[in-house]
Amino acid sequence: MALCGAKKKNGEKCRAFAGQGTNHPGVGYCKFHLGNTEQMNKHAVKLKAEQEVAKARTKFGEKIPVEPTEALLSVLHLSAGQLAWLHGEPDAMEDKGSFDGQVLMRLWGEERDRLARVSESALRAGVQERAIRLAEAYGQQLADVLRAVFHDDELGLTAAQRAQLPAVLRRHLFAAEGQRELVA
Ligand SMILES: [Zn+2]
Repeated sequence: MALCGAKKKNGEKCRAFAGQGTNHPGVGYCKFHLGNTEQMNKHAVKLKAEQEVAKARTKFGEKIPVEPTEALLSVLHLSAGQLAWLHGEPDAMEDKGSFDGQVLMRLWGEERDRLARVSESALRAGVQERAIRLAEAYGQQLADVLRAVFHDDELGLTAAQRAQLPAVLRRHLFAAEGQRELVA
């Protein structure tokens, strides 16, 4: 189990588990050593992706890092899908004064940052740019299909139900990602 390792005031290294008490257990500093800052959270995503890539490389050999590539592309699909879908909810987003509008704007911003980070990790892991663009295009399609379903007259969702969709969608997409064990 990796340790926090941050230098304490007495010069010793922190013996708490890496990421202890944060949303990135296993990597990065613990909660007592700025582990919960936004910067650390962002850094932890990279660390985790790199860890996965390194792990898979040891497992499958240096030549063809298929697993991390697939994992990264899968996250790209989902992230791009989520982003495109959020972007396609202009009514809700425009209502910036409302709580829902603010939540959507924040989700959109976070997802945009995450997509950029995952793309970066994918590029570093040797995924071709073309594959990344394809993943984003699939994500867009995923979003289009979801939107078509959610707005289908036959389904007849109320405005209140539709307002819950971003949170519900996010939960399910994160669950799907969790199965990939890439981004906690
Ligand atoms: Zn610590």
